[in-house]
Amino acid sequence: MPEGPEVETIRRGLASVALGRCVTSCRSDASRIFRGEAARDALPDVLVGARIHSLGRHGKFLLADLERDGGVTGEVLMLHMGMSGQLRSSALSGASAARDKHAHLVLNFADGSDIVLIDPRMFGRVEVGHRPAQGGLPASIAHLGPDAIEAPDPLACLRERALRSNMAVKTLLLDQTLVAGIGNMYADEMLHRARLMPRRPATTLGTGEMARLTEACKEVLAEAVALGGSSLADRTYRDISGRLGSFQTKLRVYGRQGEPCLECGEPIRREVFAGRSSHFCPLCQR
Ligand SMILES: [Zn+2]
Repeated sequence: MPEGPEVETIRRGLASVALGRCVTSCRSDASRIFRGEAARDALPDVLVGARIHSLGRHGKFLLADLERDGGVTGEVLMLHMGMSGQLRSSALSGASAARDKHAHLVLNFADGSDIVLIDPRMFGRVEVGHRPAQGGLPASIAHLGPDAIEAPDPLACLRERALRSNMAVKTLLLDQTLVAGIGNMYADEMLHRARLMPRRPATTLGTGEMARLTEACKEVLAEAVALGGSSLADRTYRDISGRLGSFQTKLRVYGRQGEPCLECGEPIRREVFAGRSSHFCPLCQR
């Protein structure tokens, strides 16, 4: 599933083809990915004739602020890629993405280019949000924690919660209301670099361990963004021009069960808890 670094890579690609462009037409279907206003045929009213003013991201959400007649409208097109969502531009991918049988949303721009949302499993989400007058996130995502990639201290809320939580540290890393943008794969990678067991109760973490985790969080995400995210064996994650990411070659534990730990040689273990698989080194992590 695309996590923060994959969505950030998609955002950067999208900016090159959509920023400042005017939407001339849009096509959407009746699938469940459309929520709220977007599910009630409001998309053409919101999008047609509007320009993409800016493109942001918070956690795993892409946020396109719209502009009309030279002023921002306060409306935000919000996209979440779910498990298998991809954005394509026909101009960049060299094929008509709009004709893909899993294309659920197509935006056409005045210069003939397009943006297509393809989502075979339909766990993605398309919404129209409204920026509050005082700024900040649209209401439906206002509960999210700081962005894991952009926030100067991404684990600030998590650290506070950890003081009074017996939950596993990995469960807190995955809690989007504490820090937004980390999924199962990057959480495992951070915990290995910080030498912490995924199951470790959060209250037992010392100041030094928490500092290691914060460092590991910043390091892993920065490296993943620099390499265009991770494309796993299913190859469902690609950037807007259809290119694969390459951070998967740097994974130290995720998907490496049975293979030797790159630090100590002990076989990496995989265990399922809280409904997710966790990958860790039984010697390096405690
Ligand atoms: Zn090890």
